[in-house]
Formats: sequence, C-alpha cells, structure tokens
Amino acid sequence: MIKLHQTSYIAGDWVSPDGAEFQSKNPVTGETLQTYRSCGPAETEAAMAAAHASFAEYRRCDKDQIVKFLNTVADEIEALGDQLLETADAETGLGLVRLTGERGRTCGQIRAFAAIVDEGHWVQASIDTALPDRSPLPKPDLRRMMIPIGPVVVFGASNFPFAFGSVGGDTASALAAGNPVVVKGHPSHPATSELFAHAMDRAINRTGMPSGLFSLLQGCTNELGGDLVRHEMTQAVGFTGSLAGGRALMDIAAARPRPIPVYAEMGSINPVFIAEDALASRGEEIAAGLVASVTMGTGQFCTSPGVVVTTANTEFEQAFATGLSEAARGVLLNEKIGQSLQAAITAVTSRDDVEWLNPVDISEIEVLTPPNCVLKTTAASFLADQALQEEIFGPVSLIVECDCPAEMRKVAAGLEGNLTATVHATKKDREQLAELVELLEGSVGRVIYNGFPTGVEVCPSQQHGGPYPASSASATTSVGADAMVRFARFVAYQDMPDELLPPALQNSNPYQLLRRLDGVFSDSAIGPDAERA
Ligand code: NAP
Repeated sequence: MIKLHQTSYIAGDWVSPDGAEFQSKNPVTGETLQTYRSCGPAETEAAMAAAHASFAEYRRCDKDQIVKFLNTVADEIEALGDQLLETADAETGLGLVRLTGERGRTCGQIRAFAAIVDEGHWVQASIDTALPDRSPLPKPDLRRMMIPIGPVVVFGASNFPFAFGSVGGDTASALAAGNPVVVKGHPSHPATSELFAHAMDRAINRTGMPSGLFSLLQGCTNELGGDLVRHEMTQAVGFTGSLAGGRALMDIAAARPRPIPVYAEMGSINPVFIAEDALASRGEEIAAGLVASVTMGTGQFCTSPGVVVTTANTEFEQAFATGLSEAARGVLLNEKIGQSLQAAITAVTSRDDVEWLNPVDISEIEVLTPPNCVLKTTAASFLADQALQEEIFGPVSLIVECDCPAEMRKVAAGLEGNLTATVHATKKDREQLAELVELLEGSVGRVIYNGFPTGVEVCPSQQHGGPYPASSASATTSVGADAMVRFARFVAYQDMPDELLPPALQNSNPYQLLRRLDGVFSDSAIGPDAERA
C-alpha cells in the first residue's frame, strides 16, 4: 500500500507547494477526502526546466529503451492494484467495474504506443535519392521523418481519470513520440493522480530514464494551467474538458510570442439521425439503445448522444422518455459539473420552444444525482438558435423533430463540429442516405451506422476528434496510433552524411522500416547496403 504524500511530483521529488488549498470529495457519500495545495509559478518553473533538461537525454535513447520504459509504466500502473481502483472510485464515484475496464484500456493503450514505437513506421520516413546529373539542376538527396518537439503540457480530464488522466492517452502518446510531459492534474481526483505519479516514478527509476521526463503539478487554479501553457519551454498542450477551458488555453497559446499548438478535446453533442423506415420498424429498439448510451457514465462521456434527429413518432418518444425515467440515476463526478448541469437543464426547459418529455421538479433534485432527461424541439428552433447546440454535460438528450427527410438533411447541414454523428437506417432508407452521410462527414470526426456513439474502440483506424468546437485540431486524433503525431514534427535532411542521419533514414534501413523511397513504399536498404541486404 502506497502512503500518499498529498503533494505534487516534480522530476523525482515530492514537493509541498503553498498555494490555495483544495480537497477531493467522494461524490457518492459526500465525504471529504485528501487535502492538497496548489502549485504556483515556482513549481511551474521547476517542472518545465527539468522537462527541458531531460529532453536532450531522452532524445538520445534508442527505441528499445523507450519501448521498455512505456511497457514498465503499464506494469507499474497495474502494480498499484486495488489501491488505484479504490482511490479513484472514492474520488469519482465511477464504480469498480467501470474503473477496472478503464485501467485495462489505459495500460492497453500505453503498450500499444510501445508497440508502435518498436515497429517504427510512425515516423513516416521518406527518402528521395540524389540525381547529381539531372539537368538543368542536380537534385539533392532529401530525407524526411518525424521527430519529437520537446516538453508537452497535459491537462488530466475529470471524466476519464485513467484513460485521459495523468498518465492517460495524451501523456502516453507524448512520451512515446519522445517528449517529456508535465501534467496539470485534475483537481477532482488528486490522490488518483498522485498514484499515477508513483507508478511513473518507479518506471523512470527502473529503466534509468531522466527524472525530468515526468512531473505532476496539482492545483485548483486557472493561473497554474495558464502559466504552464505560457511557459516558453512548453512546446504543445493536450487537453480534455470544457469548451470554455479549452478555448481559454487555445487563446493563451496563440497569444504567446511564439505560439504553440493546443490539442483540445472539448464539447460535442453527437447527433443521432434516425431515418423513417428505421424509426417505424425498430424505433423502440433504438430508443432502448439510446437510453443505455445517454445514461452511460451518467452522461459524462464526450461521445454521449446529446441530440436525436427524427421525424415525428409518438411510440419512439414514449419509449425513449419512459426508458430514461426508469433507468437508475447515476452520480456526477463533482459539484461543479452538477451545478452547471442543473443550470443548463433549468435554462433549456424554461424555453417556450423546448418540451420536457419526462419532467421532474427540478427544485427537488440533488445536484450530484440528476434526472435522466429527454427534451424535444423543432428543427426550425434548433436551426435558429445556436444555444440549442451547446453540450449539456450529463444524462440529457434533445429530440429535434423534423417534418421530413429533407428537413433532417437541413439539420445536418446546420450542425457545428462534433466528434461523432450516427445514422440509424434500413435498406429501404438507404437511397436517401448518401446525401445525409456526405453532410455529416463535413462536420464530424466519426460517422456511425446503426450503432451508438459511446464506447470508443482504441485502434489505429479510430478518429477521436472533430471540427471545432469538438476539438481544436480536426486533422488529429486523441485516440489511436496517430495520437503520437500531434507531438512530433517533420524535419528534412538535405545531402546529410549517412552517419549523421537518424537510423530511420540511414541507407542500411537498420529498423527495416517501410519507407517512401523515391516515391514508392519499400523496406529496402539503399546503395551498397541494398546489395548486402
Ligand atoms: P474544465 O473546467 O474545462 O477543466 C479541465 C482542466 O482545465 C482543469 O484542470 C482546469 O483546472 C483547467 N482549466 C479550466 N479552465 C481553465 C482556464 N480558463 N485556464 C486554465 N486552466 C483551466 O473541465 P472539467 O472540470 O472536466 O468539467 C467541467 C465541464 O467541462 C463539464 O461540465 C463539461 O461541460 C465539460 N467537459 C467536457 C468533456 C468532453 O469530453 N466533452 C469532458 C470533461 C468535461 P482548474 O479548474 O484548476 O483551473
């Protein structure tokens, strides 16, 4: 059993900052848990300086060392055993079953990044050999690949304390790409974050990595996050949270003398479109699936289906409303989320153009155990007011009732950026679908057919990110193999002697990579080395 220090962790040391005090709370029992203090400018400076110093050393590690390190991190997270699950359950109320699954996903994704580093193709090596006799000008030898960028700041998410927490997908992908990481832990679960720092500390020591490779700054103030993003040594930012928070950090990063990218995953309403024949033939089945998806994790999933677009169908509406009313109420992560949900439900249900299909007396609702709500509006209202497209974080879904399939397409055309869109259809519906799918792919990162948006498969073909405001950089993904390329950049070497090139670009192709060689993918060596191969 690890004894918690109730502090932050900077480059191998447990430090005691003297900033604002904050406490984690058990959202189920209301019990106050550990007390922590916020880091300030001194800790920001120390962590960033250590990260910067460790970068040069980490860059010199070969890929086998990085692979060993990442696999050891996953082993050490598992070695935290039940203490991690119980601590996170107390701080989040997410339950041991969900957290056990999330731990598996977290360690699985760290090991998957290790395998990608081991395989090596992610650097996208490309070689154009010289043509010294080309006329009128000779062509130089050009070789290009991705390299790490330097210290990355990661904001741990509240709703995925493991998979997007202190050593979640953003941290793992940044480390795998060859960068040190400084984490701003989420103030809702500081003890969970601290346990992850223990796992990192052991992995760093066991594999002989530089101590500045990882720091965890705990805190409850916007100033700490802002200072980390502003710091001149920070090269990029990974963030999961609110649109307001993500946007504030994007603006800070853009206003720096030397702007840096912020990879922020923010709000999404994940519209579900139900075509006419699907609605008529299996509306109740779809309603049951939606109930499960909306209530999953008390609606605190970035892929929760916040909007359902259909033509009128009373049976479907009733099945959806009854199912949500009968489903057990979940517990929200913290009071801040509960209060913003209560405010959002109050605001939306007081509108004349929104009907609450399963109403309850809002004044009797405990802030952490909200009702599972289904609301209804018209397509005209939805299209006229952007406010109806704002994410309501919690178990709430809004039916947008359309007159006809053409109006459903109008709704699709008027959507803001989202992580996902879902289409439910039958064979009969299909001839109307091509246009709808085309409209949806213009504004989302993932289009789902006859399924539900929650439950994000972690694999190389996954796309988790969409046009703003779903995320800040829609060309990238925060889940899957390509998450690493967010924290790397291309560099080209012109006429560089072979021994000065990184191994991925050397003639002998020591890693046997699939490289773009004079425009054609090949795992061959080049020149005399090719003859030897
Ligand atoms: P949040 O308020 O955006 O906070 C996330 C992290 O960013 C925290 O560490 C927070 O730290 C920091 N932060 C927020 N605003 C900042 C600012 N202006 N400057 C510097 N740092 C800032 O998100 P949350 O606490 O997880 O949840 C609150 C709301 O976010 C939810 O109600 C929900 O609407 C949304 N949310 C959405 C998703 C999604 O996947 N779509 C996921 C989680 C949350 P400090 O508070 O200590 O500054």
